[in-house]
Amino acid sequence: MKIRKDDTVLVIAGKDKGKKGKVRFAYPKDGKVMVEGINFIKKHTRARGRVRQAGIIELEAPIHVSNVMLLCNRCNHPARIGFRFLEDGRRVRVCRSCHEVID
Ligand SMILES: [Zn+2]
Repeated sequence: MKIRKDDTVLVIAGKDKGKKGKVRFAYPKDGKVMVEGINFIKKHTRARGRVRQAGIIELEAPIHVSNVMLLCNRCNHPARIGFRFLEDGRRVRVCRSCHEVID
């Protein structure tokens, strides 16, 4: 996956379009990411014991990676990502607009 934990991303689709946030978790299997402050969903809860209160709580929900773009920390633009292999065989991500290595 092109997006990883701790990346800063820009939301490009959906109700949070235009917002930025840091990736809290990545779910490569599902192609989804959880982004700080993005995609709050309302959940109705019932009181369970003493801990939870009945009512509506807001939770962050994962969004699909196709709805976010990685923000390049060099040129500060939403980056199209390419890959490059280093001499030691490591594969790193490269910003296609400024050609800087992102990893
Ligand atoms: Zn860049």
